[in-house]
Amino acid sequence: MHDFIIIGGGILGMSTAMQLIEAFPDRRILLLEKEAGPARHQSGRNSGVIHGGVYYPPGSLKARFCLEGNRATRAFCEAHGIETRICGKLLVATSDRELGRMKGLWERTAANGLPREWLSAEALVEREPAITGLGAILVPSSGIVDYARVTRAMAEAFEQRGGQIRYDQEVTGLDERHGEVVVRTREDEFSSRYLVSCAGLMADRVVQMLGRDPGFTICPFRGEYYRLPEAHDRIVSHLIYPIPDPATPFLGVHLTPMIDGGVTLGPNAVLALAREGYRKTDVSLPDMARLLAYPGVLRMLAHHVRPGLAELFNSFSRRRYLALVRRYCPDLTLDDLTPWPSGVRAQAVSRDGRLIDDFLFVNTRRTVNVCNAPSPAATSALPIGRHIVAKVKEQVEVG
Ligand SMILES: Cc1cc2nc3c(=O)[nH]c(=O)nc-3n(C[C@H](O)[C@H](O)[C@H](O)COP(=O)(O)OP(=O)(O)OC[C@H]3O[C@@H](n4cnc5c(N)ncnc54)[C@H](O)[C@@H]3O)c2cc1C
Repeated sequence: MHDFIIIGGGILGMSTAMQLIEAFPDRRILLLEKEAGPARHQSGRNSGVIHGGVYYPPGSLKARFCLEGNRATRAFCEAHGIETRICGKLLVATSDRELGRMKGLWERTAANGLPREWLSAEALVEREPAITGLGAILVPSSGIVDYARVTRAMAEAFEQRGGQIRYDQEVTGLDERHGEVVVRTREDEFSSRYLVSCAGLMADRVVQMLGRDPGFTICPFRGEYYRLPEAHDRIVSHLIYPIPDPATPFLGVHLTPMIDGGVTLGPNAVLALAREGYRKTDVSLPDMARLLAYPGVLRMLAHHVRPGLAELFNSFSRRRYLALVRRYCPDLTLDDLTPWPSGVRAQAVSRDGRLIDDFLFVNTRRTVNVCNAPSPAATSALPIGRHIVAKVKEQVEVG
């Protein structure tokens, strides 16, 4: 019998495992991951941005955990010899409408206590000669890192303290009984006093395995990237973001210096036709049938039909994709866009058709389940792990 089992070897599962074994050093803790190694899904396929905490409503978990997570990620990386670059982020307004939204963001950042600077069009060009806009917000605390590397370091820290990780173990069934949770995988069966699930794109399915109605479904949104040629490695020195459309939870196509020295462009947000559908041609009919049959999904799609179709057209037309970026970086050309591996976001959609914005957890007597952890969850992985450990401690105290 294990004391704790964690499902999911992404950054949230590993952060939780590492902090759980710090809190309970003498207990038997096992992490189960269905892939052959850590960070094979969202945690290894993202923009690598350490977010500052610009966008999130004051008082939300995202606002709190992102601000804390920015500091915690930097400290963790320093302690583990992982390279980060705090290059700062510029949110660039390219129209009067965006300038209006930028003012809203400026006030939100004040409410969240985030240090930032308002740049005029001239000050923007001075800092970033390749970027044009009517103005920008500079967030100096944003930076970049390789989150797959961070996840691996967390896994090592967990194992060094005696934690056990089993890869190639897909959890297929759960049974929460009096005093234990039985965890079945394709190959084995385990039992544990408590269970934490950080299953990303499969979060709702894990809650269903517990015999619960999660009240949401996971909608997979693929984010497609391009990489700029080496000649453009220094085209920008900051992260360059558009002013986001408040109607969608996504941040818009941005120019992202990466920790390996290159620059990517992306991601867009298109409905993926499979939960782990990284290519346009990846289609899972069972995934699609279940998704479309979920009560809120058609309503959500109908509500976002215009931005959804625009994203789809941009996905199929490099020219349209490029136009999004040329609004703030006019020198880029079609030849600059080389396709780069995509990621798929796990976005929870509620029964009434809302894209759930904040981080969401569903707990039962012996389980804690991370149910909605889209961006900035990589930035927030350490505080989210701490939050989960606090919940588990409460459960343990009840007995
Ligand atoms: C395109 C894109 C860009 C992003 N950019 C950023 C960014 O710049 N900054 C930021 O902070 N965040 C970003 N995010 C968000 C961030 O990457 C995710 O929020 C974070 O990685 C979520 O971590 P996770 O551990 O919950 O999920 P995942 O990394 O997806 O891990 C879940 C794990 O659970 C495993 N699993 C699932 N089901 C089972 C099962 N039944 N049995 C065993 N194992 C199972 C999966 O194999 C997987 O390894 C981005 C996300 C995407 C997709």
